[in-house]
Amino acid sequence: MMRIGQGYDVHRLVEGRRLVLGGVEIPYEKGLLGHSDADVLTHAVMDALLGALSLGDIGSHFPDTDPQYKGADSIALLKQVGEMVGKLGYQVGNIDCTVAAQAPKLKPYIEKMRENLSAALETAPSKISVKATTEEGLGITGNGEGMTATAICLLILKD
Ligand code: MG
Repeated sequence: MMRIGQGYDVHRLVEGRRLVLGGVEIPYEKGLLGHSDADVLTHAVMDALLGALSLGDIGSHFPDTDPQYKGADSIALLKQVGEMVGKLGYQVGNIDCTVAAQAPKLKPYIEKMRENLSAALETAPSKISVKATTEEGLGITGNGEGMTATAICLLILKD
């Protein structure tokens, strides 16, 4: 049996924060604002996995009102979500993601993001696709106010 899930997340870009995407710290003049490390890509992946199994969303599992998640490493949270998936008898078929950001250029970091995400989920990087796009200067990513990420996943029941 297969289950499909999708995730979407948005974080505001501000000065004085680290920029972390897919567990990779990217040198840039701004970073994403959030209670955790605000890793918008990893958050979208977690929501896709939770959604596929109708397990709610990351806010219900890792509330941003809980001090233990302040500055949290989202890759470590993804690992926990991966464990939930495994406990329910599923494995990752594949995950496909897109990050929308006007700047910086993300291409040099994509492979490392795929490695980080796949390692957290104990799966192969070949099952994880990460793409980046600009939105042509339009909207909240285009004007540099924030970054968004979408993810879709397929889970397959282990035999
Ligand atoms: Mg988020």
